Amino acid sequence: MPPSSPKPMRWRPARERPLVERGGPPRRKRTRRPPAIILRDVSKTYGLGQIQVRALRNVTLQIARGDFVAIMGSSGSGKSTLMNILGCLDLPTGGRYLIDGVDMRDLDEDDLADLRNRKIGFVFQSFNLVARTSALANVELPLAYAGVDRQTRRQRAKEALAAVGMAQRWHHQPSELSGGQQQRVAVARALVTNPTMILADEPTGNLDSRSTEEVLRIFAGLNQEGRTVVLITHEPDVAAQAKRVITLGDGRVIDDRRTAGVHDQPALPHHQKSAHHLYGESHR
Ligand code: ADP
Ligand code: MG
Repeated sequence: MPPSSPKPMRWRPARERPLVERGGPPRRKRTRRPPAIILRDVSKTYGLGQIQVRALRNVTLQIARGDFVAIMGSSGSGKSTLMNILGCLDLPTGGRYLIDGVDMRDLDEDDLADLRNRKIGFVFQSFNLVARTSALANVELPLAYAGVDRQTRRQRAKEALAAVGMAQRWHHQPSELSGGQQQRVAVARALVTNPTMILADEPTGNLDSRSTEEVLRIFAGLNQEGRTVVLITHEPDVAAQAKRVITLGDGRVIDDRRTAGVHDQPALPHHQKSAHHLYGESHR
């Protein structure tokens, strides 16, 4: 078409997404992406009989991509319930939950499992490694579920173990590793699928101060790579590594403060774990 006869201009007001989805490749122009996490009025009530526990009461919050968030609160305040919902391990009884703008209500079981596998890496307080199984096989497991071929699995599992400083211990079983080493294997398992989000429920709760520091360094590194990190902790010096601290009380957000910008460098741990040494580390 000659330049003298331009196409008529079509003016449209800016809006989030077109009302009518058009075919063809997705437009790359709009770079504003939705927050990693949106919770709207999320509630969770356990027990449908006489005794009901309202573990979460109308929680509304957003978490930006690349943020590093600590969730605090006393025992029973709803932290694990919230984390299980964030990780799609459990469903809310009310409200809406969106990951990267996608409403979890719109996904069927298969889509949900797929999303969990691709986007979310979960780390637990008690490591949850498969016993009598090598570190390498443990880290390979999520890739096996995802149908990745054996050779690629091996390769990526070895890389993930190297990323957490456990390359030399790939053949060890959980019982042959310290708590800190087991947790590092668990972190490798969480990141082997290259998730955009790492969720951790008291990941340092069973660790001595040195292992805590190692694990926190790994989380800081993952956050620096642009991954969203959300961790539950009751230890103020662990929360101090985060860029935002959300406190729950009785199923509600009772405090929410930002201590560093989303895109700031994450802080590196340099602490002695306060009072933790009093409990020792060998009794668990
Ligand atoms: P936190 O992790 O902050 O200690 P939880 O999310 O585990 O808190 O629990 C919040 C509340 O929900 C508590 O009162 C707890 O007893 C209750 N709760 C947690 N899980 C269940 C469950 N599966 N069935 C019934 N009640 C539960
Ligand atoms: Mg808990």
